[in-house]
Amino acid sequence: MINSNKFSDKKILLIDKEEKNKNDRTWCFWEKDAGCFESIVYKSWHGLHFISDHSDIALDISPYKYKMIRGIDFYDYCFNRIQTQSNITILHGEVSYLAENNFRPSLNGNMLNIQNAIVFNSIYIPSSSQKTSFHFKQHFKGWIIETDEPIFDPGNATLMDFRVDQSLGTTFVYVLPFSSNKALVEYTLFNKILMSSDEYDVQLKLYIERFLGSPRFKILEEEMGMIPMTSETFAGFKNGMFNIGTAGGQTKASTGYTFKFIQKQADSIVRQMLADQHPAKKNPTPKRFLFYDNTLLHILSEEQLPGKKIFEHLFRRNKASSVFKFLDNESSLSEELRIINSLPKKIFIQAGAKEFVRLFF
Ligand SMILES: Cc1cc2nc3c(=O)[nH]c(=O)nc-3n(C[C@H](O)[C@H](O)[C@H](O)COP(=O)(O)OP(=O)(O)OC[C@H]3O[C@@H](n4cnc5c(N)ncnc54)[C@H](O)[C@@H]3O)c2cc1C
Repeated sequence: MINSNKFSDKKILLIDKEEKNKNDRTWCFWEKDAGCFESIVYKSWHGLHFISDHSDIALDISPYKYKMIRGIDFYDYCFNRIQTQSNITILHGEVSYLAENNFRPSLNGNMLNIQNAIVFNSIYIPSSSQKTSFHFKQHFKGWIIETDEPIFDPGNATLMDFRVDQSLGTTFVYVLPFSSNKALVEYTLFNKILMSSDEYDVQLKLYIERFLGSPRFKILEEEMGMIPMTSETFAGFKNGMFNIGTAGGQTKASTGYTFKFIQKQADSIVRQMLADQHPAKKNPTPKRFLFYDNTLLHILSEEQLPGKKIFEHLFRRNKASSVFKFLDNESSLSEELRIINSLPKKIFIQAGAKEFVRLFF
């Protein structure tokens, strides 16, 4: 909205319970060109590896680059921009809603009197009414480690390494090197049960010993988090609020990637507001991509095929750039058919048929 320069006559109130002054997350995503946050990209990689039991595939990701933005750089950048705008006020406090179907928000226990305002909500409350949906959690813990010896190739990152135990569900590690002796190593699972912090630590240590050559290292930083992966239907507009970000369904259910989808949603909302349209009218995600995501969750939920095998098929049999385009919801129908054709057909057709009926009828 600031970039468009068209909202300077509007009063904008931004409420958050946190000050967002900690490096609480790192965002990774692939992108072809310079994006609107290019100036704060902390590191980018031209090469990625996909590793499984018997293979290490060097993915040719051109024309994409895999980029990383640190949470703290993002917050600093945004708040610095916001501070130059006299029409924007920031308030810190906890917002709550009296009832799901009754939009009466309060701030720190006091009713908020909101009139003649457009309200955007990014508080995600999982739906309790959609019992038939699949609800997975992508949960992870990562360490930024510094090793005594140079063991990393800073030009190449590991997108997914599936050589780890799969008994708790789809489990992989990614390794994002910042230099020859510094990297983020993150242990990730797709399942329904979170682990304790210590349990991730055991697995991270084991991975570093077994697959990174047991280097001497120290932990510089830690990150831990959870991203919902769900087939639940998200309302763009509900209870007088426009839902944005994860709360507005912008987390890709099959991968957990969200960052780029949020930028696309924000762009779409601003364009619609500038055209005097209802900001929720046009969802930037075509519905068939929800169908693909739900089909994958269905297969994982019924344990018809392990996630490891599905991602192996995807990256072994397709160009990485085609997979990225598909996972960005930007592919054409013919490109999607080629990708679907590379996957175990019987299982995908059976699961797809059920999800098709559920989503479209
Ligand atoms: C650790 C971590 C790493 C991630 N890494 C990636 C990644 O690499 N790539 C990717 O694409 N996606 C990633 N994601 C997923 C997704 O991009 C992020 O979760 C992203 O921050 C979602 O943005 P959002 O605006 O929807 O929600 P948030 O960023 O969570 O923003 C919601 C805001 O609402 C505030 N809030 C919540 N409840 C209240 C309340 N009751 N009252 C007032 N304020 C409230 C919070 O403080 C927060 O600032 C990651 C998520 C996590 C948790």
